[in-house]
Amino acid sequence: MTHFPAPRRLGGLLFGGLLALLLIGVAAFGPLERYYQRQMAAQNQVPLNLAVESLRSALDRYAPLPALIAERPALGQLLSTPDDAVLQANVNEQLRQTATTVDASDVFLMDITGRTIAAATYRQPGSYLGRNFSYQSYFSQALGGGLSSFSIHGTTTGERGYFYAAPVEDGDRIVGVLAVKFNINAFESIWRGADSDFIVSDRNAFVFMSSRPDWHFRALRPLSEQTLRVIAQNRQYPIDRIDLLPITATDIGDDVQLIRIEGETSSEPFVMASVQLEETDWTMASLMPIAPARNQALQTLALFGLTALLLLAGFGIYRQTQARLAAEQRAKRELETAVAARTADLSTALGDLKRTQTDLIQAGKLNALGQMSASLSHEFNQPLAAVKSYADNAAAFLDRDRPEEARENITRISQMADRMATISKHLRNFARRPQQAVGPLLLNTVVQDALAVIAVRLKSSSAAFEYDTPKGNIWVIGGHVRLQQVIVNLLTNALDAAEESPFPRVTLTIDGTVLTVRDSGPGIGDDVKEKLFDPFFTTKSAGKGMGLGLSISYNIVTDFGGALTAENHEEGGAQFTLTLQPAQEQGIAAQ
Ligand code: ADP
Repeated sequence: MTHFPAPRRLGGLLFGGLLALLLIGVAAFGPLERYYQRQMAAQNQVPLNLAVESLRSALDRYAPLPALIAERPALGQLLSTPDDAVLQANVNEQLRQTATTVDASDVFLMDITGRTIAAATYRQPGSYLGRNFSYQSYFSQALGGGLSSFSIHGTTTGERGYFYAAPVEDGDRIVGVLAVKFNINAFESIWRGADSDFIVSDRNAFVFMSSRPDWHFRALRPLSEQTLRVIAQNRQYPIDRIDLLPITATDIGDDVQLIRIEGETSSEPFVMASVQLEETDWTMASLMPIAPARNQALQTLALFGLTALLLLAGFGIYRQTQARLAAEQRAKRELETAVAARTADLSTALGDLKRTQTDLIQAGKLNALGQMSASLSHEFNQPLAAVKSYADNAAAFLDRDRPEEARENITRISQMADRMATISKHLRNFARRPQQAVGPLLLNTVVQDALAVIAVRLKSSSAAFEYDTPKGNIWVIGGHVRLQQVIVNLLTNALDAAEESPFPRVTLTIDGTVLTVRDSGPGIGDDVKEKLFDPFFTTKSAGKGMGLGLSISYNIVTDFGGALTAENHEEGGAQFTLTLQPAQEQGIAAQ
């Protein structure tokens, strides 16, 4: 048999399971979150590359512009005659139109000293017109013969610009520099609305472009003294506004870092993926908020936890069901064993009972037989002894020649013989319950005949006898002689009992088919009641009763389908009730 844990042990098991789940969850969360962060970075690689490409293509698209514009003859003319106001106005206007066409924020012409002599923004306040940019690296590079160059600026207008510059040549001679300025905002607008933030930093880790304005002009790492000096020198960035963007970074993959940017009030965590733009020495980075990775990790854990819980619960329910089934099986087996044991007990008890019953019947039979033998031997011995003594007497009287006395004794012997014959007849009646026919009888007649049988006894008795003859004819089922025998018996017993009382009286009543015999005797004692109808039961002295009357009467009445009962009357004395079956009225009474 498989052993299943009890429900309490099961509870412990489940609790242990839950605890293990919790520990697994706590331990697994970190690696899982890392995994989703790397996934996120991988997914973000495509939009990052697209952004890099769009930046690169913009740079490439605008790069040849200054060289093309620089070839215009008017520029050379103005450079050679810078004081020609008409020409200057003409060039200014040309540059303005060009700027509008190529969507540049400015197009301007500088002479060999770096002074601006014409600009597209000539009409606007704060125009570069007249200002000297000789310190700018793009100027010096262009002057050096470079086809084009670019840089970032924010010092003059506070606006971040992207500059391309090309030399203006007159034959082999460089006579000036033409520069085109683009607004960086235009590049940044490409990234607007993206899920992640972007940063473009230069080789000094200086952030000059970002989807987040608060990160502009900030450094991702501390700038060295020398770098700061260079920046100050060519006024590339507003040195006074440069400050550090506090970042802590952890590598979590190739070109993927988990960074935390400390803000003024809180710190923001990001997953950062970066790409290098070799030609410009720039780095473009995308910064993804980590919340989705965290949520995904939590969801995965929750899903795992839920599945594990379900499995655990299922397992628990399974074990519990098994335990319950096993317990039920056990209980059933115990019940079956108990029932089998009880059944065995019962059948043993039944066997005992049967044996006892058999024993009792046997004992009862023996008892009855004993009573009968005693009674019979008494009944016969007494007249036999008398017969012997009368015979002896008769013989003696004959010897003495006294025939009269001898005859008298012989007559007595004859009487004794009659008595013994009567006893014998009783016994025969008892032994053989004659299956005589029963039929309708006129109860009135039967009672009359019975009274006639005991007429002598009634007359000689000290008891008063009362009998109200019934008004009409009462027809009952029975046999005439046997019913008469029953009535005689009841009346004789009543007379016997009544004669012992101070005011002896016997009353016979007929009410319908119910015949009652009441007497003024001592009534039926409790010990007698049970044995009243038993054969050979008698309280009378030897020779007066054999104890067969009521037993025979009872059987006769039962044969008739009637009933015979005995009880004590509430005013004293016994009362026997004989209830007979009513019969249809007949023409002649059955005999
Ligand atoms: P018997 O008259 O020969 O004794 P019965 O069978 O007629 O036999 O009666 C059995 C016994 O029932 C009697 O011995 C007597 O004790 C009791 N008995 C019968 N009739 C009466 C009665 N009317 N009052 C009191 N006892 C009675």
